[in-house]
Amino acid sequence: MNVILKEKIRPFYNFFLKVSGQLFHRGKKYICPFCGFLSNDLILIGGKADVLKKYEAIGAGRRRGSCWNCQASDKEKLLYIYLRDYAKIFDGSQKSILHIAPEFHLSNQILRCKNITYTCGDLFAEGYTYPNYVQYMDLLDLQLTDNIYDIVICAHVLEHIPDDKKAMSEIFRVLKPNGFAIIQVPLSKLLNKTLEDITIQDPKIRYKLFGQKDHYRLYAQCDYIKNLKDIGFEVEVRNISVENMKYGLNPMEDLYICHKK
Ligand SMILES: [Zn+2]
Repeated sequence: MNVILKEKIRPFYNFFLKVSGQLFHRGKKYICPFCGFLSNDLILIGGKADVLKKYEAIGAGRRRGSCWNCQASDKEKLLYIYLRDYAKIFDGSQKSILHIAPEFHLSNQILRCKNITYTCGDLFAEGYTYPNYVQYMDLLDLQLTDNIYDIVICAHVLEHIPDDKKAMSEIFRVLKPNGFAIIQVPLSKLLNKTLEDITIQDPKIRYKLFGQKDHYRLYAQCDYIKNLKDIGFEVEVRNISVENMKYGLNPMEDLYICHKK
């Protein structure tokens, strides 16, 4: 199915999920941090590619993770719980945040905070529509001055970019000293080396090798951390998922909190 058709059908599909959730999936096991919906399970999401299963990819692959009512994913809920309960960005203090390829529910929460200067950017992929608070932005060439953001959020973007190290360095450049970026990618802890070939253009081959037709790589965790450190980040790998299972997070998914000292 092409992207344009998928986007047209999406609202009807989401409505179907919502009704299904209300009728058949109510319970007490999980609570959605965005909409408060209480459920006994979560929507099955993620890619089915064999390579994701073989290397036990985290942040990809088949799993139960999304809210029946609002469809927020486990990845988006994880970002929100960290920013709300650990980084405490909603404490009323002044902050500046750059959000690349912004997640919808998370953006809605941040937009409510008038003390946060919030910039959202995306590359405007063909066939997708974007809210009016999102501006065109090329992560390889940010038209922004150095050292201006306290926080950068960039989740599941780098695997779509051939020159991911340039993108990492742009994030580093616009962060203030003592700021941090949360940079998430699909990765494997089993791989010793990132699976990557940026010359492959065939979507079917990319799907087979990297797990998704528009990905250039499947990261090995060790390589990923090394790449971030080479850029200059101090990398904090933190798991808050296990202690927050009531929100329906993936217990295997860590946060990569990249500090600029
Ligand atoms: Zn929800």
